[in-house]
Amino acid sequence: MVKIKKYALNGLTCASCASKIEEEVRRLPEVDDVNLNLMTNEISISTIEGKVEETAKSLIKIVKRLEPSVVVSDLDQVKQSEDEHGHHHGFELNKKSYALRMLVALLLTAASAFLDVNKEIKFAFILLGYILVGAEVLIQAGKNILRGQIFDENFLMGIASLGAFIIGERVEAVAVLVFYGVGEILQDMAVEKSKKDITALMDIRPDYANLKDGNSERIVSPEEVKVGDVIIVKPGEKIPLDGVITEGKSFIDSKALTGESVPVEVTKEEEVLSGCINMNGVLEIKVSKTFGESTVSKILELVQNASSKKAESEKFITKFARYYTPIVVIIALLVAIVPTLLGIGTASDWVYKALSFLIISCPCALVISIPLSFFGGIGGSARHGILVKGGNYLDAINDLDTIVFDKTGTLTKGVFEIQEIVPAKGVSADELIHLAASVENQSTHPIAKSIMKYYGENNKELFIMKQITEKAGHGIIANYEDDIIYSGNARLMEINNIRPTKVNKAGTIVHIAKNKDYLGYILVADEIRDQVSSTIKELKSLGIKKTIMLTGDQKEKADEIGNKVGIDKIYSELLPQDKVKIFERLRDEKTSNKKIAFVGDGINDAPVLAIADVGIAMGGIGSDAAIESADVVIMNDNFENISRAVKISRKTRRIVTENIVIALGVKIGIMILALWGITSIWFAIFADVGVALIALLNATRAMKLIK
Ligand code: ADP
Ligand code: MG
Repeated sequence: MVKIKKYALNGLTCASCASKIEEEVRRLPEVDDVNLNLMTNEISISTIEGKVEETAKSLIKIVKRLEPSVVVSDLDQVKQSEDEHGHHHGFELNKKSYALRMLVALLLTAASAFLDVNKEIKFAFILLGYILVGAEVLIQAGKNILRGQIFDENFLMGIASLGAFIIGERVEAVAVLVFYGVGEILQDMAVEKSKKDITALMDIRPDYANLKDGNSERIVSPEEVKVGDVIIVKPGEKIPLDGVITEGKSFIDSKALTGESVPVEVTKEEEVLSGCINMNGVLEIKVSKTFGESTVSKILELVQNASSKKAESEKFITKFARYYTPIVVIIALLVAIVPTLLGIGTASDWVYKALSFLIISCPCALVISIPLSFFGGIGGSARHGILVKGGNYLDAINDLDTIVFDKTGTLTKGVFEIQEIVPAKGVSADELIHLAASVENQSTHPIAKSIMKYYGENNKELFIMKQITEKAGHGIIANYEDDIIYSGNARLMEINNIRPTKVNKAGTIVHIAKNKDYLGYILVADEIRDQVSSTIKELKSLGIKKTIMLTGDQKEKADEIGNKVGIDKIYSELLPQDKVKIFERLRDEKTSNKKIAFVGDGINDAPVLAIADVGIAMGGIGSDAAIESADVVIMNDNFENISRAVKISRKTRRIVTENIVIALGVKIGIMILALWGITSIWFAIFADVGVALIALLNATRAMKLIK
């Protein structure tokens, strides 16, 4: 048995150190899989059931060795007290004192350059300045080398500055360290800021619940509330747990959850979801799910796990960093030694050039800016009510060339209205709907719900049915006393040798029969969702080659809707298992490097959602099946969000590519200039810090809202 356990790594901000920790944990024999989420500083480890403790001990050892300042804590036991401040690359970066030391070092350097004193004093000044900013970096580099971790930033900057100092470029030596430090502080601030911005978007976690206790109320944590308890939610408060209103009436705002900003009115007996904000009235809610099972927990968990599912480019860049740095260091060594041995130029000249190489060999900005871009893309999507379960899915949306849609509940609203009740001769409309409601009572199909809703208005007692069986894609069969009652489509009638009336009307027909006697039909109709045609057109213009519809509905109805919204190919009269078969065939037919998505509502299409490259659930909120089996959940019913997801995914990939190109381009450019001797150490350090900041700022663009 495999068990997944999560730990918080407080104080971890260095991406390359993180990937080393991840690597080493992965190599533990009992460990099956590891995911380190740099945005939430969590590591989740799947390990063999009985070895959880052993793994935890090994994890602590590994972290101690690689990043001594990081604190490991068990997320299941310790409540997360968010304190993520200020550690950097293995040493405590006390920003203020660091900044002060940099300032003093600069003053000392200036003094040594401009004061009219003798050479020894000048040297003493600058040496002191160098020690002030360099000692910590050099000590840390030394410690890391002892731990077998050579090519980190401390090492690169330490060697570069020490080299410059030794060859007499002392001002540069101090400058390298000062600008490196400034860059680190700014980088740290930028990362912290966007982490905060993004998590603030998802600030839906309720802090407390007002538990009703007889006539008084008590403030408790949401975890303590049990199913069946009654909680009170006042105006302005977050609804902490899912439940049903027992008292009161109010408008609630589900913006944080669904991106939908229009408040809806709710009243007695209606269901409300946790995470929504109660706007005006006082509500009493009978809790129907524990906090862990409530919508808000599910969504938080989903968003937090999202950045641990890494996109290919994220994985690539961590791997790349592992080779890039040593290679550049080796080139630097060659540049320093080979030309001198060949008698070209002077040794100090080549060493100087090599030092510029070292400065720009640091890949950390790249390593952090890529996951930050994906995190931003996921955060930006969430703001529109699109929940993407991982960077890998956000990235896969880029490569879609086929999108397959379910009809009912996806292209249509899935809310049927009774249009007509047409009984056969000798049957009354009342009898017909009464019988239909008695049968459909057990079903959760949207058609059944509409019949129940209509029937509820008449409020007559239902017949007690026995042996109710729902045949997916057909309808329902049940026993009432000695009779068999059928309620479903023409196919259900035909396989039971009942001859239904032929109807040719817009909508879906529910035929009702008793034994072999046909009793009549109910015509129900479902509306097409808003913006379906325009979204499908837009998807085409975004490069989606094929749009396909799968439905269990009759051919005529299916064709009518499909053609109206501009679907390319329509498959109708399918049973749920046929949908899986056809989808698999479509998946095998498509171009190999392209991907295929399925958009469904989670009602009887969860299997297809699960096997799609990208499974997208419409209006998934409230449907557990959809939230669980889909990769992307459109939480509001906004159909346009499908094309918006494609746009966000494109934008995120563009930002990632830009970052890779800019960072590597500048670095390689400077290496070439350095060889020619055109550039200086000054230039190298400015470029390195500048590129890092540009990449980070660019990454934060991914979370901006788009049209
Ligand atoms: P879709 O593929 O469009 O989502 P389904 O597979 O859920 O549709 O259902 C296909 C058809 O089966 C429906 O159009 C309806 O005619 C019939 N059907 C399914 N369930 C029921 C039910 N509970 N009552 C009546 N008819 C039903
Ligand atoms: Mg459906």
